[in-house]
Parts: sequence; C-alpha cells; structure tokens
Amino acid sequence: YGDANQKVDYVFKVVLIGDSAVGKSQILARFARNEFSLDSKATIGVEFQTRTLVIQHKSVKAQIWDTAGQERYRAVTSAYYRGAVGAMLVYDITKRQTFDHIPRWLEELRAHADKNIVVILIGNKTDLEDQRAVPTEDAKEFAEKEGLFFLETSALNATNVETAFLTVLTEIFNIVS
Ligand code: GDP
Ligand code: MG
Repeated sequence: YGDANQKVDYVFKVVLIGDSAVGKSQILARFARNEFSLDSKATIGVEFQTRTLVIQHKSVKAQIWDTAGQERYRAVTSAYYRGAVGAMLVYDITKRQTFDHIPRWLEELRAHADKNIVVILIGNKTDLEDQRAVPTEDAKEFAEKEGLFFLETSALNATNVETAFLTVLTEIFNIVS
C-alpha cells in the first residue's frame, strides 16, 4: 500500500460510477488504503486516490476517481471521464433500483468515455446476503450481453475488491502493453 519511490511504467485512470450509497467510496478506501468505514460521508468534491502495483514486472500506478456525490443529480461531467481507460460500474445487491439504473450509467459512460474503455460491473455488499434483492444470475446475464466483466464484492469484509481492480488493471495492461 502507498506509493513507494519507484519508477512508474504506466498510469491508468479508472472511474467509479453508480448510484449514491452503493459503496463506491468504500470500495476505493479498501483498495487504496485497506480501510473501511460504516458511517462514510457522502464524497465532497471530485477526488482520486492512487495505488501503485506491479503487473507482469511493470510498475502500474492506478489513479482511481470517485464521484463527488454528483451521482444523485446525474451531473457527472465529461471531465470526470476524460482520459479514463477503465470504469467500475457499481450497484448494491440489496437495492434493486441501483441495478435497474445500471443501463443508464452504461449509456452515460459510452456517451462520454473512450470507446475502448475496460468496464467491470460490480455488485457490492455481498456481506448482506440475507437482504439480497439482485440475483447473481441477472447481473451475470446483463454483463455477458453488454460485454462487461462482472464480480460481486464486499468492501466491508474485503471480498473480491482486490480481484475486481486487478481484473480491470490487468486487462488495460494487456491492451496497452
Ligand atoms: P457511495 O455513495 O457509492 O460512495 O457509497 P459509500 O462508499 O459512501 O457507502 C455508502 C454506505 O454503504 C456507507 O454506510 C458504507 O459504510 C456502506 N457500505 C459500503 N460498502 C459496503 C459493503 O460492502 N457492505 C456493507 N454492509 N456496507 C457497505
Ligand atoms: Mg461516495
């Protein structure tokens, strides 16, 4: 964790999108700092965090952008998407509406981002399995139809968060290297 003083071979910008409160900021906190907070405040101001990791013997700096609570107003601007080579499209497995909004987010992404952007669909909060409202199979089917990677995660207990980022970053790496 953290960025050691090392040579950076690649910098990849990845954006987090999806409805408010699905866990985007906590997924980022888990990946960038291995932290989690149950009373996380709505994100204020556009911000990103970085983590440098090694992929196939190259140093890759992941610059992960988090929305600034604009998700409520669907006011995520094109500046947010500019230069992004990866996107994580997040919904909450306990809130059906957040999954039903995914096609809109995908539309928005395709309107603003580079057409070769690598996209992963993420169903977060798998620790709340007893409150599940979105069957895994529904999301899997949607992801396959749209050509997206797909994983279910829990930022709370860290399940699949690392794998989700590595899936996106490795795919980007394979495209650009
Ligand atoms: P954002 O608006 O998409 O950035 O969502 P946040 O990251 O701020 O999370 C919204 C709420 O969901 C906060 O209370 C988090 O603690 C909680 N949360 C985020 N991820 C998880 C998770 O994996 N499991 C559970 N149980 N709660 C989570
Ligand atoms: Mg947030």
